[in-house]
Amino acid sequence: MTNKTQICVPLMVEDHSETLRDATLAAEHGADMVEYRVDVFFEDRSDDEKGTVEQLHDRIDRILDLVEVSPLPCIVTCRPHWEGGEYHGDDDERVALFEALGTAEKPPAYIDVELATYTRSKNIRQKINLAVNHPKQVRAVTTRLILSSHDFEGRPSDLTRKIIAMQDEPACSVVKIAYRARSIRDNLELFEILGDRQKPTIALGMGEFGLMSRILAPKFGGFLTFASLRDESTTAPGQITIDELLNLYRFRSITPTTKVYGIIGWPVTQSMSPMVHNAGFEKIGWDGVYVPMPVVADPTDEQASDASFIVTLSTLLDNERRFGFCGASITIPHKERASRYINNNFLDTPAGEEVIKIGAANTFKQDWTEISETYWVPDGSYVINSDASAIRSLLENALNRLSSRHICIIGAGGAARAAAWVALSGGAHVSVYNRTADRAERFVEVLNTDRGDGWEGSLQSISKSDAKEQVFDLYINCTPVGMTNGPDPEGLSIPIPDMGNLAPETVFFDTVYNPIETPMLKAAKERGYRTIDGVQMFVKQAEAQFEIWTGTSAPDGLFDRLVRKKLSN
Ligand code: NAP
Repeated sequence: MTNKTQICVPLMVEDHSETLRDATLAAEHGADMVEYRVDVFFEDRSDDEKGTVEQLHDRIDRILDLVEVSPLPCIVTCRPHWEGGEYHGDDDERVALFEALGTAEKPPAYIDVELATYTRSKNIRQKINLAVNHPKQVRAVTTRLILSSHDFEGRPSDLTRKIIAMQDEPACSVVKIAYRARSIRDNLELFEILGDRQKPTIALGMGEFGLMSRILAPKFGGFLTFASLRDESTTAPGQITIDELLNLYRFRSITPTTKVYGIIGWPVTQSMSPMVHNAGFEKIGWDGVYVPMPVVADPTDEQASDASFIVTLSTLLDNERRFGFCGASITIPHKERASRYINNNFLDTPAGEEVIKIGAANTFKQDWTEISETYWVPDGSYVINSDASAIRSLLENALNRLSSRHICIIGAGGAARAAAWVALSGGAHVSVYNRTADRAERFVEVLNTDRGDGWEGSLQSISKSDAKEQVFDLYINCTPVGMTNGPDPEGLSIPIPDMGNLAPETVFFDTVYNPIETPMLKAAKERGYRTIDGVQMFVKQAEAQFEIWTGTSAPDGLFDRLVRKKLSN
């Protein structure tokens, strides 16, 4: 099923033929409409203090020419600087442009006028009303009016008043509201605005936190969403490209019934999870979409970070909002927070023993009972740690059995805790080396206290020289050392000994996945040891999440292919 929400590509007009080339390209990429932003193109740049009437007509004609040959239906917008645009000229000239557009032989489908301009004076209002189609129009005019309001700082305090004013105006065909989203919670209010619409409505959040409102507009009946032709041609903060919208987020398949999943973390812009999960949903025909859900954390303010996480999760789950939130990957820095709060019965969600013992969760699932197509009631939820299941499967595969094996873990953070728990619960002897020895000691103490009775393995912290001198069956790097753009991209988390000290079947496992071949894996391979790369772990943990959400195995090899291709580019 395809939705009716249109995709509009905004083009900042500077040159007639270049703009037409881009408009044709936008049509080829799948846009339904283009917006000609004539802020700069229309502005009078003559030296005269006030451009002559002829000059004004020339400038208007240039825009009429553009509209006449437009390959797609279009919106014409001349946004003044005081509403985020680049037009510094006077309002009379803009209004003259609107009048000419409305009565042109080949008029644009829409003109966009700011509510603030429209309500400035009776004279402006009357002239614009004469230029657009509306119930009281006596002439045959096809151009329709989009009344718009933008706030680049945040949610306007008079938001409701503005929406009502736009809705109540008979000449207004489409209401457009756009403001900078300060958290992903703002998207939910924008979806409510769409849900309560009295007229076709565009409701968009600007900036990184507003991305959801752009992608999910069809789920809530948005009139259109804006997407740029290229990364660098965005006309508003947070706009994504039309290719990402159509291919990564499968915009055309999003409908009111589509289930919403996402990645909760900070930052999340570089995450590969949207790529793999959306591709998987497409492959198995799952009615779902997976979007970035950035939730801010401040390392210096644990309380504020906790509050931001809890409030966001509970807002996403508020069933009254019919948001359709069915699950999330939880990543740095919220994994421990997720285990703490979810396990606190804060969400009335049982966390498995593994999540409690590891103290970190990375997957959330919410079940619902469907009352009607768009109204669901909550029906249980749970969290797991799929990093742990991914590590378990890779360790068992590499070592056949974990019992009595000697494993060296480098690092004492969340990934290290998952690895230690898995190895220890499988009966291995685990040694932990960490840059900050105290942290490793604390972690060993906690896990030794928590571990189950009768476990045959052992757990201790060791120094760097012990890690170098002792012999292990497997080494696992759980630090960001070796990671591209990390704290030590060229580094080795421990020196790799030459053959002779270790058996050739010794395994080196790096949880870092970018680059695929880290300095540690390269050095290990050069010495003939076996290796496991971080992509295998990423893929396995993502496949486990996918299966939990959809009840279907992830398509064979798909995630691995996509991630390796992406990282090789
Ligand atoms: P974390 O909780 O922040 O722990 C980071 C650990 O790395 C700490 O032990 C820290 O030591 C150590 N460390 C940080 N910078 C270091 C440096 N320059 N030199 C030596 N040690 C350093 O992070 P995490 O969640 O455990 O993640 C760790 C790594 O695992 C990440 O970088 C990520 O690449 C990888 N990971 C991969 C996957 C996957 O799917 N492939 C999944 C999860 C994690 P101190 O205690 O001394 O600060």
